[in-house]
Amino acid sequence: MTIAHAAIIGAGISGLTAALALARNGISSEIFEQAEALTEVGAGLQISPNASRCLAKVGVLARLEGQWREPKQVALASGLTLRELAHVPVGEARKRWGAPYGVLHRATLQSALRHAVAEEPLCTLHLGARIDKANQDNLAWQTAKQVDVIICADGVWSHSRRQIKGAPEAMFSGNLAWRFVLSSEDAPGFLKRDEVTAFMGPMAHLVAYPLRDVGGFNLVAIAAGASAGEAWHTEVDSSWKTALDRHFKGWVPELTRSFSAAKPTFWPLYEVGEGNWHNGRDTIAIGDAVHALMPFSAQGAAMAIEDGFELAAFLSSMPVPQAFDAFVAHRKPRLTALRKRTSFNKFAYHAAGPIRIGRDVVLKLRSADSLASELDWLYGYKAYGLDRI
Ligand SMILES: Cc1cc2nc3c(=O)[nH]c(=O)nc-3n(C[C@H](O)[C@H](O)[C@H](O)COP(=O)(O)OP(=O)(O)OC[C@H]3O[C@@H](n4cnc5c(N)ncnc54)[C@H](O)[C@@H]3O)c2cc1C
Repeated sequence: MTIAHAAIIGAGISGLTAALALARNGISSEIFEQAEALTEVGAGLQISPNASRCLAKVGVLARLEGQWREPKQVALASGLTLRELAHVPVGEARKRWGAPYGVLHRATLQSALRHAVAEEPLCTLHLGARIDKANQDNLAWQTAKQVDVIICADGVWSHSRRQIKGAPEAMFSGNLAWRFVLSSEDAPGFLKRDEVTAFMGPMAHLVAYPLRDVGGFNLVAIAAGASAGEAWHTEVDSSWKTALDRHFKGWVPELTRSFSAAKPTFWPLYEVGEGNWHNGRDTIAIGDAVHALMPFSAQGAAMAIEDGFELAAFLSSMPVPQAFDAFVAHRKPRLTALRKRTSFNKFAYHAAGPIRIGRDVVLKLRSADSLASELDWLYGYKAYGLDRI
């Protein structure tokens, strides 16, 4: 017998997608979110076709298309000279991978998911509802119906995953991100409005892309550094400028000057390693709670969306313990392949010395089509359950 009602901890990207996908499969859910309101947490996100295909199925893509931008290409360029080295033609995503590639603010995606949830009678969202011990006893008095499964979707610092014996843990990756939105007036003229540009330099890189929904450009600077504790958007003090100047020394001054034009938020980057995703009975974790990755492939939100979508499809087609096992067996190989790709990207993006020179030569020789074909497995992916809804 399949389930009738689920409790979801966390109304982030994975939790809201899971609620909508469950509803599309006829299953009701209650979502418990610690925040009193879903405000503008985060910065820009790139949403690749593997994820936008799922968003289309749960009825959210049309809400985004009027607000996001579909870049012509993702370009790799030198942060020391601005010279383009290679590009992936993501503007052809609809044709090549069957769904669009878009860039937007995380708040726009979360708000579109939230509105779809509000319109869906099978979904109930409880705000200001922090759940730390996600077990049946703790949830029983808070839920309207008997809960068949508990889905822990509470992000990289998940507390609820502790209910799963042998669940993975978060580890500091040794890298820091500074994320900021730069107004169009403050943005250097060479930043292109129709592309995502990853500028690379020794031990650091900077990704820039336009945000149609909030105006201006999203900038993410990533470099090695010390941990700042468990927070996603720590406000930075004046020392941020000194740290950024140190990490981006030798870069084109017009790029680094733009650091002063906006106050960034500071993100220590954590990863979540191997471990159990479920307790074999009634509780499972998804999204960053079980596989947070470094953002070198820009796939964290995409994997959160795929997880929510696919878990709902498995839960609606087989009994719970079997659905949990089938979900994990289906997801883990994809996450392992993505982890490898992300480590490779980190090595390539932050290369220094002779390796950097070799990288640049190799990239200059790569055609746009050959780079795109390397991503077919990732972007062309058809999530389990797409044909069920
Ligand atoms: C610098 C950077 C750049 C990134 N760029 C990209 C990108 O371009 N593309 C991409 O796909 N991904 C990107 N990501 C990753 C992406 O943001 C995450 O992978 C994604 O948000 C994970 O979704 P989630 O639902 O698992 O967790 P979250 O979105 O973190 O949601 C967790 C939710 O749970 C709630 N919560 C936490 N604890 C509790 C509790 N005890 N009780 C109730 N609620 C709780 C939180 O308030 C939150 O709303 C980036 C990440 C970083 C750091």
